[in-house]
Amino acid sequence: MLNIILFGPPGAGKGTQSERLIEKYGLVHLSTGDIFRANIKGETELGKLAKSYMDKGQLVPDEVTINMLRSEVEKQADPKGFIFDGFPRTNAQAKALDELLNDMGTEISIMLALEVEENELKERLKKRAEVSGRVDDADPAIIENRIKVYDAETAPVKDFYQGQGKYVGIDGIGSIDEITSRLNEAIMAI
Ligand code: AMP
Repeated sequence: MLNIILFGPPGAGKGTQSERLIEKYGLVHLSTGDIFRANIKGETELGKLAKSYMDKGQLVPDEVTINMLRSEVEKQADPKGFIFDGFPRTNAQAKALDELLNDMGTEISIMLALEVEENELKERLKKRAEVSGRVDDADPAIIENRIKVYDAETAPVKDFYQGQGKYVGIDGIGSIDEITSRLNEAIMAI
C-alpha cells in the first residue's frame, strides 16, 4: 500500500494537491476537516461537537478525531492506499495512526510537508474565504489562532516522522502544477 500524509499549515495547498494525487495513484483521500464539515452539514452529533472547536480555530479533541478516522479507514474494502490530509495534527494522533496501520499490516510510506511562509498563508486564506464559505477562513482572529495551534501542536508531528526517516519537505510556493511535480518526484523516490 502507498500511504501518504500530506502535511502543512492551513492554506498550504493540502486539499488541492490531494485531489491531484488521488487521481494519479488511485488512493483514498481522507481529509478530517472535510469529514467534520460534512458532519456539520448533516447536523450530526459529531458535527455539532466539531463545530464548537472549528469555529474558534481550535483542534477537535484527539479521542473524537482518532475514533472518527479509524472508522473511515476501516470502512474501505481493499484500498490501494490512503492520503491523509489534515491528519495527524498531534503526536497522539500520529501514534494512533501508526498503531491502526500496523494492525492492518501496513505503515505510512512518506510524509510530504508543504512549506509556505506565514504571510503567504494569510493571503491565500483570505482569498479562499471568498469562495469556500468557511467561517474559519473569513475571520483574521480565527486564522491567527489556527496558525498558532499549528505551530504549537501540529508542527512537532514533523519530528515524529523525521525520526522514522519518512519526512520530506516540499517547497509549497509556485504554480499548482509545479508543486504537483515536486510531490510526484518525492513519491517516485520512495
Ligand atoms: P482543515 O480543513 O484541515 O483546515 O481543518 C479545519 C478544522 O477542522 C481545524 O481547524 C480543526 O478545528 C478541525 N480538524 C481537522 N482535522 C483535525 C485533526 N486531525 N485534529 C483535530 N482537529 C481537526
